[in-house]
Amino acid sequence: MSLKNLPGHKFYLPLFISIILICCKKSTESMDEDREKSVIEGLYYEDGLPIQVVIIEGNISEINRPESLETSTALILAPGLIDHQVNGYLSHSFVGGDLDAEALKEVTEGFWSKGITTYLPTLTTHTYEMLLKSFENLNQLLEDSYFAQSIVGFHLEGPFISPEAGYRGAHNLEWVRDPDWEEFEKWYSASGNRIKEVTIAPELEGAMEFIRKCREKDIVVAIGHAAALTPDINKAIEMGATVSTHLGNGCANTIHRHHNPLWPQLADDRLTASIIVDGFHLTREEVRTFFKTKGPENTILVSDLTRLAGMPPGRYQDFGQELVMTEEGAIMLLSENVLAGASFLITRGIENVIKFTGCTLGEAINMATKNPARLLSLHDRGEIAVGKRADLILFEFQEGSLEVKKTLVGGEVVFEKE
Ligand SMILES: [Zn+2]
Repeated sequence: MSLKNLPGHKFYLPLFISIILICCKKSTESMDEDREKSVIEGLYYEDGLPIQVVIIEGNISEINRPESLETSTALILAPGLIDHQVNGYLSHSFVGGDLDAEALKEVTEGFWSKGITTYLPTLTTHTYEMLLKSFENLNQLLEDSYFAQSIVGFHLEGPFISPEAGYRGAHNLEWVRDPDWEEFEKWYSASGNRIKEVTIAPELEGAMEFIRKCREKDIVVAIGHAAALTPDINKAIEMGATVSTHLGNGCANTIHRHHNPLWPQLADDRLTASIIVDGFHLTREEVRTFFKTKGPENTILVSDLTRLAGMPPGRYQDFGQELVMTEEGAIMLLSENVLAGASFLITRGIENVIKFTGCTLGEAINMATKNPARLLSLHDRGEIAVGKRADLILFEFQEGSLEVKKTLVGGEVVFEKE
């Protein structure tokens, strides 16, 4: 019986061709794999010893701890930094509804050049319409943006915060109000369901129900700009609040020594504390005390950066109020005698927290990588571990000052200092 008389012989030729095609595809894939494999080495930020990280297709595939490094430059290798509270940068604010692709590029590349590989644009208190417009705009910008890989969602800080002076900080009283779930749901859907964290004052009417609903959507609930005392803070924690927003700030200058919002937040281990360690927002002693109380695993560094960061000292208008940026870099709302955000990046927080508390470089970096990643359930980043996305930084740390030399996002070099 000849081959062509075999039943089903007509399938043999296509089968043969398919096998050749599969083989060709396989060899192309392995070539691609070769091309996408890279190795980065440095001194591991936690112990100062050599580390070599193998990256395949943007993820960490292997970690080696060689005796010595092949390169002579001994830079420190750490995960990319994560800042979950940035209101703006380089003159651009996330509230306004007019941020464009060019501005998003400028801001994100600006962060990359300083080692921040993930951030949460933070939208602060404003009118319902303005927040809606801002979320719609940001969502649209992120739709197919290359920079979305560094923006894991948004943080809404306000408008559901304390109306009391001091606790309210620089948020405009006109727009501060009680929690309104209907309003929030509209913002949430305008944001493309990207609101990941909400800062709220738990003493407000309807706050507990609001927290419960946020938790149903897996939104991280933060206590902040709150005049709440122990009962409301405890209740908020029971309902699922897990973090204090810039603890020690968004607080009146004069408080009761026993009954104030700080003790219950410090006392409860279920709350992680985020703190601004720019040297203006908290004293050295406050930072030391908060750090000793919460420990290196439950402290998170945030910048609370505003659009004025990266701009020269002077007088500015923001959200209908006059702000002053001092020569030293403090941003003040003079009419209320309060700080209005910060001008220093999270890297300054890392430098200062080491100076103020005597913690190790490894602990300080973890407060800006591993800890925020855990808080925000970012399982793909925040650590140098097999399987994580290769968001990495190489930096020099000399005389207490940190200088980023190289930044990788998803294994790709996005910044390199010449
Ligand atoms: Zn604030």
